[in-house]
This record gives sequence, structure tokens and C-alpha cells, in this order.
Amino acid sequence: MKKFYVIGHPVAHSLSPKIHAMFAEQCGEEIDYQSIDFEPGSFIESLGRLRREQNPYGANITLPFKKDAADYCTELTERARVAGAVNTMTFSGHQVFGDNTDGVGFVHDVCGRCGFDFVGKRVLVLGAGGAARGVIAAVRPLGCARITVANRTESRAVSLAEEMGIYAAAFTDLRRGFDIVINATSAGLSGAAPAVPNTIFAEAQLACELTYSQFATPFMRLARDSGCPRVEDGLGMLIEQAAESFKVWLGVAPDTAPVYKALRGAAADF
Ligand code: NAP
Repeated sequence: MKKFYVIGHPVAHSLSPKIHAMFAEQCGEEIDYQSIDFEPGSFIESLGRLRREQNPYGANITLPFKKDAADYCTELTERARVAGAVNTMTFSGHQVFGDNTDGVGFVHDVCGRCGFDFVGKRVLVLGAGGAARGVIAAVRPLGCARITVANRTESRAVSLAEEMGIYAAAFTDLRRGFDIVINATSAGLSGAAPAVPNTIFAEAQLACELTYSQFATPFMRLARDSGCPRVEDGLGMLIEQAAESFKVWLGVAPDTAPVYKALRGAAADF
């Protein structure tokens, strides 16, 4: 049976084993997919041991190891190279193929399940890490009127904007004029929303939090309290990026709708 892991720290809370088990059952595939926690700083050594002892077929990589994974791979897809981060590894002898399915997962969820059309839209992305890079790269070809990136460390937003050919702004300079606001920061981990003015939601039809959680995050509460008519968390993106990984490994595209329905019912209390 092909073995897969989701590697992170912490990772015990990850929904990925459950999601992939549901995909496998639906598609009639037999897989063994488990979570494994690596100590920060031990990625290369721990992955080497895992490969020797368990001979995995593939792995998903989550915080804080996505950049380590990109450095480890012998080959990267274009979307992984642009993101500077890998969330999907495939092992084949001494070769390690690295991919990044986060951006396409976000787009599938927002355009598919949420029915949002990016054509002509003004997009604001908060954050300049791997998730922001993947999302911007996936959204950029969709015909937006303008994409702006803002980040706590402004210099990272400026260099990302230069690299991607988009606009950069400081958190404090942000005002109204966005159709969609995407929170690609990990600010929620420290129990806060990014320090942005609430006027950014004045014309927004949709606010997206990339983190998924059982309860509304501070960013989601800020968006909702500021009058944004639709607020979504990252569960749909999580399931869509997993579906894309599943397709990369096994060549089959699972139906994500029943998985979203099952997990939303079990894991949401907004
Ligand atoms: P990352 O590479 O570590 O980047 C973190 C980003 O968050 C940086 O831009 C950082 O700004 C910013 N940040 C951290 N704390 C902040 C705070 N208190 N206030 C404002 N900004 C802050 O992480 P990542 O991989 O991009 O992930 C970002 C988020 O997306 C995480 O919450 C992750 O769980 C989520 N995500 C979800 C999915 C999904 O499938 N749903 C997939 C990928 C990622 P500085 O540059 O100033 O440090």
C-alpha cells in the first residue's frame, strides 16, 4: 500500500489524514496517510530517517517546513518555484519532486464553491509569505483589475510586488477600494487580526481567511463587523489543495463537495 504523510509542527490537529481517507474511499484507492511531527530544525534529518524506514510515496508539508521542503527537492514545478514553498512532495528513488497546490486550491475554492469571478476585480492580499506568493501567482492570470499586496514587514511586500508586477502598500496606508480581501498572514496564530484599517472592507464582496479553524478568527470577525457581506475561512482551500495533491500522486481528481459538506458540518461554529 502506498504510504503518505503530512509533516508539520504542530500537526496533530491536521485534517489532512481525514480528507485523504475520504478521497481514497471515494476513488477506490488504498492508501495509508498519517500525520508526523518533526522537531523544528530537524527537517532534513527527520525526513531522511522517514524515507529510509517507511519508504513513503509522497508527503504534504505544512508550517513551518514548506521552505525547507523546497530546498530539499531535486526538482520543482513552476508553481512551487514561484511560491518558494513546497506543500506536496513525491519520492522516486533519489529524486524528490516538489509541487505547491495551495494557490490552485485557493482559486478552485473561491471561484468554484464561492462563485467569485476575479475578472475586473480589485484584490488585496495581506501577507507576503509562501501562501501569499502561491495565491497571487494563481490569481494573477485571472484578469483582475489590480492586485495589491500589503505586509507587516513592508519591504517584503515591496519586493514581492516588484517580482510579480503588482502593487504594494503599507498596512497603515490601506483604504477602501477592494472587491476581495485575502488574509494570507498567520496573525491569527497569535490571536490577532493583522493591524489594518477596517475601511478595507467598505466595498468588499468577499473576505477570505486562509487559516481554517473551528471558530471565526479575529480577521473574520473584523471583516464581518465592518459590514463585509461574505466571510470565508480556509477549510475549502485546504480540501481543494489536498485534492490537487491527491491528483498529483494518484492521477485521479476526487469530488471535493461531499468532503467539504462533511467537514464543515463537523468543524465549524461561526
Ligand atoms: P509564512 O510563510 O510563515 O508567512 C507568514 C506571513 O504572516 C508573513 O507575511 C508575516 O509577516 C505574516 N504575519 C505573521 N504574524 C503576523 C502578525 N501578527 N500580524 C501581521 N502579519 C503577520 O506562512 P504561510 O505559509 O504563508 O501561511 C500563512 C497562513 O496561511 C497560515 O495561517 C497558514 O495556516 C495559512 N495557509 C492555509 C492553507 C489552507 O489550505 N487553508 C494553505 C497554506 C497556508 P512578516 O513578513 O512581517 O513576518
